[in-house]
Amino acid sequence: MSLLVVGTMAFDAIETPFGKSDKIVGGAATYIAWAASNFVKNIQQIAVVGEDFPKSELDALAARGVQLEGVQIKEGEKSFFWSGKYHMDMNTRDTLDTQLNVLANFDPVIPESYQGVEFVMLGNLTPAIQMQVLDRLTVKPKFVVMDTMNFWMEIAMDDLKKVIGKVDLLTVNDSEARQLTNEYSLVKAAKKIMSEMGPKYLVIKKGEHGALLFHEDNVFFAPALPLEDVFDPTGAGDTFAGGFIGYLAATKDISFENMKRGIIYGSALASFCVEKFGAQRLREITHKELEERVKEFVDLVQFDIKLVN
Ligand code: AMP
Repeated sequence: MSLLVVGTMAFDAIETPFGKSDKIVGGAATYIAWAASNFVKNIQQIAVVGEDFPKSELDALAARGVQLEGVQIKEGEKSFFWSGKYHMDMNTRDTLDTQLNVLANFDPVIPESYQGVEFVMLGNLTPAIQMQVLDRLTVKPKFVVMDTMNFWMEIAMDDLKKVIGKVDLLTVNDSEARQLTNEYSLVKAAKKIMSEMGPKYLVIKKGEHGALLFHEDNVFFAPALPLEDVFDPTGAGDTFAGGFIGYLAATKDISFENMKRGIIYGSALASFCVEKFGAQRLREITHKELEERVKEFVDLVQFDIKLVN
């Protein structure tokens, strides 16, 4: 079982209708690592941070078993910074600011000990860097999942399409699926991505409305747990992806049936993520809590039915 994760490790400033955070630690790869570490020990992390990134955050990930040899710390430079503001529904948001900082000149180095990795999670960051990571692997991985965001569709669509062409599964949210394909129907968008763009599997995330998994003519839907309080949805998509690929890597099973279970674990972890600001809640989850929440998902969609005639 081996999993390589690449993505941003960053500072975020978040505004919701109910509160505002100072600069807190975030980043796609941070959330992915916390989520996937519920299933995989020794995650192989690749990222770049500035000297402002708290050592305590790196130590906490290391204590969790995440390998940080591939995380570069740039003296005298600043970490990636993102700021966003959520709308009243907490399901849609505007990006207020994106400062690439250290990400602008990131040249990812794959440590020798990471080579031969079986599962790869290309978390959200510059598409050209996602491509470099793939190109620098000496052995073709068994399964590659990729996440991205509207930001990259706006400034690097050509590079983005090249990486999408190389991965097994793409995760995007509903508006990104539409932006990528110019199709309003998500079913048509999914068909276009799978038949024309490369990935054989697609996950479309719909925030509080759950997630759809597509493969050939099969579709699986997982709801999101109806929660009384959503505090901060930031990182929910990354947490979902981390839980999903972590589960696949741990079980080493990439059948559609097993992916359904992965989607449920990913959704369960995402439901914890939104309960507190940043990755705080993810750091606290116990195995028992996770299993109980998965059970809530099972109960949520289980019913007996007899067709009347
Ligand atoms: P999510 O809410 O799952 O879409 O992920 C939010 C996280 O993505 C935040 O912690 C940000 O630091 C990070 N992020 C925001 N914009 C970008 C971007 N353009 N590239 C990479 N990571 C980003």
